[in-house]
Amino acid sequence: MTDIEGLLEDIRDRGLMRRMRMVSGPQGPRVLLDGRPVLLLCSNNYLGLADHPRVRQAAAEAAMRYGAGAGASRLVSGNMRIHRRLEERLADFKRSETALLFGSGYLANVGVVQALARAGDVVFSDSLNHASIVDGCRLAGAETFVYGHCDVEHLAWGLQQAGGRGSLIVTDGVFSMDGDVAPLREIVELAQRHDARVMVDEAHGTGTVGPDGRGAVAAAGLEDEVDLLVGTLGKALGSYGAYVCCDRRMAKYLLNTARTLIYSTAIGPPAVAAAMAALELLREQPRRVEKLQRNGAVLREALAAEGLPVPAGHTPIVPLVIGDAEHAVAVSERVLEQGVFAQAIRPPTVPAGGSRLRLTVMASHTKTELREAAKAVAGAVPPSVRAAIAQRTADTDASVDVRAARSTVTESDTVSDSARARASRVFDGLADAA
Ligand code: PMP
Repeated sequence: MTDIEGLLEDIRDRGLMRRMRMVSGPQGPRVLLDGRPVLLLCSNNYLGLADHPRVRQAAAEAAMRYGAGAGASRLVSGNMRIHRRLEERLADFKRSETALLFGSGYLANVGVVQALARAGDVVFSDSLNHASIVDGCRLAGAETFVYGHCDVEHLAWGLQQAGGRGSLIVTDGVFSMDGDVAPLREIVELAQRHDARVMVDEAHGTGTVGPDGRGAVAAAGLEDEVDLLVGTLGKALGSYGAYVCCDRRMAKYLLNTARTLIYSTAIGPPAVAAAMAALELLREQPRRVEKLQRNGAVLREALAAEGLPVPAGHTPIVPLVIGDAEHAVAVSERVLEQGVFAQAIRPPTVPAGGSRLRLTVMASHTKTELREAAKAVAGAVPPSVRAAIAQRTADTDASVDVRAARSTVTESDTVSDSARARASRVFDGLADAA
């Protein structure tokens, strides 16, 4: 029998033990955490809509009108008019032919990748894709090629090696732990050249970037070029659940093959109605997105002014990479003592040596709150760790510059030997990062 205590001991010894903290009351820019008021600086409730009165009201009314649950999967008896209405509004917002709801972003990614990456195919996945994409690849019958983070040269090489078996390229739009944006134009160009589909996970892009918060794909002008776009309802839209935007034929295929949709209960009416109200607010008040983006800039500038430069970016995700897992936890605890909640993120959610505070701003934070938070964070980082943060930031910015300097995607004859070596290590398996 597995020695659970021994395994827990091992997790503890590696500084990776996780535990839950308790929030009392609604999710807002300030919360009561384990009984203490704190500024919340690690939530995905980017637009501050989870506790918006209209969103709450919509959920409450839907509960009274339609009940709390859907009672079955959509293919049995759980498909309700309210699901279809939300799908129509999401498709309209994302300018896609149709949309299909899933129970969560995790379920959507696992289900779609598994449905599309079949035995004999090769699926191409960015090395920093979300754990749900990684798990979809693991469950799929296809081989997986993990390309270096945002490394289109590596992807190009892999596609060529696959010799026409490349079925799907999958990437986060905005990367969840680094807040950077995938090189979507180059990815789409490669997909067209190699006849592969493109799937983009917009969990952190919807409501945060692009025109009116329509996401990274819209920002790149690629709404007609991406085959599948996954979005979630649990982040900027303040509710719970997810959706896939695609054409009708693809939706029909997913409805018949995506196991996480077929075998899972439909989202309950209150969560559907809450997301619908949040989407309405986003469309009525696009300035919320501008405020969110300004807040991101305020926090980045305030951290830099405190001697803590973070990688350049325009998303609400601001990574302060500390490196060692125990150091990251210690910094997080000290920041909490100053009244700011910034959870430490450790492996396997991020690669080994990449433990960090993943700071996230919300549209509902004030500038003063963010400047004070930056001071609290700066006060909690010891001088030795500061130097490492500055170095990492310089390295990250330099590698982003190199990527940007490549104006076109190169094919295998110009790919360096080191790219080939990296590729051969990952062709048959998946990196272990989440
Ligand atoms: N994709 C990404 C990029 C995510 O960050 C997350 C959640 N953190 C998910 C998918 C999963 O979404 P959900 O929480 O709705 O399951």
